[in-house]
Amino acid sequence: MNATTFPYRGRFAPSPTGPLHFGSLVAATGSFLEARAHSGEWHLRMEDVDAPRCSAAAATEILHLLEACGFAWDGEVIWQSRREQAYAAALERLKAAGRVFPCACTRRELADSAIAPDGAAIYPGTCRAGHAAPRAWRLRVDDARISFDDAIQGPVVSNLASEVGDFILRRADGLFAYQLAVVVDDAEAGISHVVRGADLLSSTSRQIYLQQCLGVATPAYAHLPVAVNAAGEKLSKQTRAQAVDISRPAAALHAALEFLGQQPPPGLACATVREIWVWAGENWQPGRVPPGPALPGGERNLAPEWDNPPDRRGGPDDC
Ligand code: GLU
Repeated sequence: MNATTFPYRGRFAPSPTGPLHFGSLVAATGSFLEARAHSGEWHLRMEDVDAPRCSAAAATEILHLLEACGFAWDGEVIWQSRREQAYAAALERLKAAGRVFPCACTRRELADSAIAPDGAAIYPGTCRAGHAAPRAWRLRVDDARISFDDAIQGPVVSNLASEVGDFILRRADGLFAYQLAVVVDDAEAGISHVVRGADLLSSTSRQIYLQQCLGVATPAYAHLPVAVNAAGEKLSKQTRAQAVDISRPAAALHAALEFLGQQPPPGLACATVREIWVWAGENWQPGRVPPGPALPGGERNLAPEWDNPPDRRGGPDDC
């Protein structure tokens, strides 16, 4: 991962919808090590914009876990729930530029739409001509072909109009959408490099298009392999992902480094958190990070099962 923009400023942006799972720890570890390797800053942002799905308790738990794992972030934690004004201002700018339109479609009305790879309905353009009783605000997506070079996944090209369609920036319930929040926040914080899980790869084209509409800079992107459970599902609250065990931070970090292809010596799992970071800082090789198999469920993407008895787990658990 070659830095193209300086000064390097990275970030980790967990959603506090539940405790931190292994997939998020991998994103934290990869983004942190890349920032340190470039003598850059690493910021922490709590992505609690979707308030009904988030909880203060989960956010506190995530902060404790990151501290236990020895992550040190620069500056104050940014809370999306406190940044409504910034999102509203960005939406107003887009309104003034005629880039957005109000939408009154219900989920049911969109049920027959084609489905994008990330599972969302491809918006058929129903409300483009205007609507009397708007519920949400959508960004107008004309024939936008977005391409970018991902440092791990390689070149990515997408045609937003056919793959996504006009997408939501403010939801019918009044909440701002993740896509708008993340673009506004990354731009305002001056984030130069986004290192995160490849489950967000399909969001990146939307975010780059939105950056272009708002006239803000596009960071460099690197999407890390996604950890899956034994059923091949991405770890998440919905798939009941286990929380990272805060009582054994060294084992968790060791597993994250292994997952990122860094081949930490097995004995390091028994070291202190501090020793692990020293080793990782000296031995971090971004070129070793695998893009991950195209299909979910690939063996090497399996997250460790913290509940398994030690004799079945080996390595980190034999300390
Ligand atoms: N909040 C997102 C998550 O926890 C990450 C968003 C991002 O890194 O842009 O999956």
